[in-house]
Amino acid sequence: MTGPTRIIAGNWKMNGTGESLDEARAVAEALAQSPAAVRVALCPPATLIWRMKEALGAGPVEIGGQDCHAEREGAYTGDVSAEMLTDAGARLVILGHSERRAMHGETDAFVAAKVRAALSAGLEPIICVGETLAEREAGQAEQIVERQLLASLPEALAGQAFAVAYEPVWAIGTGRVAEPADIATMHAHIRAVLARHLGDSGDRAPILYGGSVKPSNAAETLSVPEVGGALVGGASLKASDFLGIIRAA
Ligand code: PEP
Repeated sequence: MTGPTRIIAGNWKMNGTGESLDEARAVAEALAQSPAAVRVALCPPATLIWRMKEALGAGPVEIGGQDCHAEREGAYTGDVSAEMLTDAGARLVILGHSERRAMHGETDAFVAAKVRAALSAGLEPIICVGETLAEREAGQAEQIVERQLLASLPEALAGQAFAVAYEPVWAIGTGRVAEPADIATMHAHIRAVLARHLGDSGDRAPILYGGSVKPSNAAETLSVPEVGGALVGGASLKASDFLGIIRAA
């Protein structure tokens, strides 16, 4: 049986200016010479989306946003709508990242509204879920992630292309990667919830793992059953590291 198309997506977070486009170009050039076995995406800050699209064109690297507002337009100073991301050249958008949930107070319901907005604008959402260390230590990891999934994934996703990223909060930017057995258990649980909640589209959606993925641990992490790719933060900023992860997939 063929599984969902795997995705390696880089999340540059609030890093990068015009000079950083050289790293994106280096990734695209390497993949143009030797194509990847997976889909590859880079999600730079909003200020670089258009410039990255201009620099990379219709090459092997897809471009995504890191967030969007739930409304199409209006008095939301500093925010960016899903339509604006599409207009700038994005195809995907990360939604519900734990940094936004923690630092911007994003609730599951707000994430679900953003997912609806992204779909209306023709973007493919990558919806992030994950438990904190305290929740894992209290034995509640699966329960928390299931609750986030059910409340953050609107039924409008049925029949649409989307991905889920399982990112244990304690593994993001800390150098700690979850144990393969724990990743396998969580990804199997997420697959069961997705299939129950969204039918065929829930069966097809890739489930990415995120949290300190690096070239040195990518092969092991990506070989865990039901891991359909990776959402990569720090290691996506340097072309050589990001390519190391892509080649391990
Ligand atoms: C992330 O930001 O989604 C992430 C997984 O970051 P890092 O790879 O740096 O842990």
